[in-house]
Amino acid sequence: MELKNYIAGEWVEGELQTMPIINPATGEHLGTVPLSTKTEIDAAVQAAKKAQKEWALLPAPKRADYLYEIGFKLKEKKEYLAQILTKEMGKVIEEARGEVQEGIDMALYMAGEGRRLFGETAPSELANKFAMSVRAPIGVVGLITPWNFPIAIATWKSFPAIVAGNTFVWKPSNETPMMAYELAKIFEEVGLPKGVANVVFGTGPTIGTAMIEHPDVRVISFTGSTATGSKVAELGGKHLKKISLEMGGKNAVIVMDDADVDLAVQGIVWSAFGTAGQRCTACSRIIVHRDVKEELEEKLLKEMRAITIGNGLDPDVKVGPVINRQALEKINHYVQLGKQEGATLLTGGHILTKAPYDKGFYFEPTVFTNVSPNMIIAQEEIFGPVVSIIEIDSLEQAIEVNNGVRFGLSSSIFSRNVNTIFKAQQLLDTGIVYVNAGTTGAEIHLPFGGTKGTGNGHRDSGQAALDVYTEWKSVYVDYSGTLQRAQIDT
Ligand code: NAD
Repeated sequence: MELKNYIAGEWVEGELQTMPIINPATGEHLGTVPLSTKTEIDAAVQAAKKAQKEWALLPAPKRADYLYEIGFKLKEKKEYLAQILTKEMGKVIEEARGEVQEGIDMALYMAGEGRRLFGETAPSELANKFAMSVRAPIGVVGLITPWNFPIAIATWKSFPAIVAGNTFVWKPSNETPMMAYELAKIFEEVGLPKGVANVVFGTGPTIGTAMIEHPDVRVISFTGSTATGSKVAELGGKHLKKISLEMGGKNAVIVMDDADVDLAVQGIVWSAFGTAGQRCTACSRIIVHRDVKEELEEKLLKEMRAITIGNGLDPDVKVGPVINRQALEKINHYVQLGKQEGATLLTGGHILTKAPYDKGFYFEPTVFTNVSPNMIIAQEEIFGPVVSIIEIDSLEQAIEVNNGVRFGLSSSIFSRNVNTIFKAQQLLDTGIVYVNAGTTGAEIHLPFGGTKGTGNGHRDSGQAALDVYTEWKSVYVDYSGTLQRAQIDT
């Protein structure tokens, strides 16, 4: 499949260089993606700008009708999309179906916002005067997304943007362009007016930069690594853009001495090794009370023996490949570093090289123990199926270890004590806290994002996402027929 850009409602051919799309489970060549330039970004931004005036004037409930149609199409194509997602990205088919479902949920939820988009009314301090605030669209927004949730994250960003009356240019990751292509086809199929949604493929440094620097792009919504996000923030700040950043994590599960250890182990296995550890919310640290550490390690090793690794299209497989060779090498580098730092390798630790794994990019689910909180493997985002066990002996220490990293996305605590649980949810410095569940599993109607190195104060998902794509406009209507001066005339 040779992909094309989607600009102004047309599939645009170009004399562009291309890059192969590879199935990480098998090494199979799935197609090619064009590597666009500033010229294509210019064309897409112009199309979005032209469409935006009319789009913003369409009543929000009518804009929302398109989102309902998009949601129904996603539902109709759920299995088809999930199969492509697994082939392109590698996550197991059950998770791929869940990701498409997230897009469906987001479409229907944000369509509902078309009949809300609530503002406020307030009493005026002057007689015969009315005061209100409304959410106004901003204009053309630029979306930059990663490969690990290629459809869900695109829906978190594009759906609130369009229901609020903006148009957008989206630069997906080159690792997963087929999902972007399929979503663009859906935009076309539901008859979204030309220019409202534009998809341009290419590299971050070339077209991401061109989008951030473009004078007609007012907002950049980025999800990706903290290293890239800080470059986006720097360039966007220089051009005075509104920048929303959702970045990396170093998420922990805390297991207290009164926890249900069996349940904690299930939560850990799901959140550390699901999606081969390539979720921004993946559990990368287990902070365990010394009284239950041995029990937890035994039960974790037992549970891990049941993990099947392989091509995610096989419904029995629980852990698929990682995205590419570079990722495999990065994970291996951290594992070697962990050994050098003096952590004990409890299980795993190898790239799988023998058949049937030799054509794809597979890493063994890996557990380190006796890890101290300041080791590099306990501080940096590894983004693979590797987890580190850190021993603590109090809730205070657990919180200190949890918060002692530069990221702040997700945290989890297993305990049966209501006081412990409430104290923890208050003190854990992360944007998301789970109690008696692993570190993953966000629902689309709550805000999604994190503190410190994970974000810059904005949120995807939920109503909070609307804050990224709208400006507050305060409107004063004076019907007194006289000049009334605020603060002066009483
Ligand atoms: P990445 O930072 O390498 O790339 C993200 C996107 O930015 C891609 O589309 C890429 O092409 C683009 N890009 C690269 N350089 C750029 C530049 N100079 N200017 C503009 N754009 C540029 O991240 P990735 O490897 O695709 O994704 C994995 C990362 O994403 C992990 O760190 C993960 O934690 C994070 N993530 C965060 C969340 C969240 O909501 N917090 C969700 C999913 C993934």
